[in-house]
Amino acid sequence: MCLFCKIASKQIPSKMVFEDDDLFAFHDINPGAPTHVLVIPKAHISSMNDATPDHQALMGKLLLAGPRAAKIAGIDASGYRLVVNTGADAGQSVFHVHLHVLGGRPMAWPPG
Ligand code: AMP
Ligand code: ZN
Repeated sequence: MCLFCKIASKQIPSKMVFEDDDLFAFHDINPGAPTHVLVIPKAHISSMNDATPDHQALMGKLLLAGPRAAKIAGIDASGYRLVVNTGADAGQSVFHVHLHVLGGRPMAWPPG
């Protein structure tokens, strides 16, 4: 079981934001913005490179969880960034797909 599988199954504690049958959302342990939530599918998918057409509904749900988490955190009106780092050049460090929901401050573009 990977780190995020353990978080989703509550074997490792986290600051939960919401949970449903398919997804688990929690605060990032090392926030890059005043609000930094991670949303993960409960099913283990290592990276977007491993997502298949079978995951289409789940991936749609994951993306729609971005505004859901933003609303709970109170940053839906001020704005937020949704990020899915994939692979080495993007800096992916945990190989279980996760959607970063970042907000609470203005952000630069392009990212570093
Ligand atoms: P990435 O670099 O896109 O793979 O993002 C992984 C994220 O997971 C980083 O922002 C880490 O701070 C975060 N992270 C790592 N371990 C934990 C943990 N135990 N609880 C919450 N967030 C974590
Ligand atoms: Zn996993």
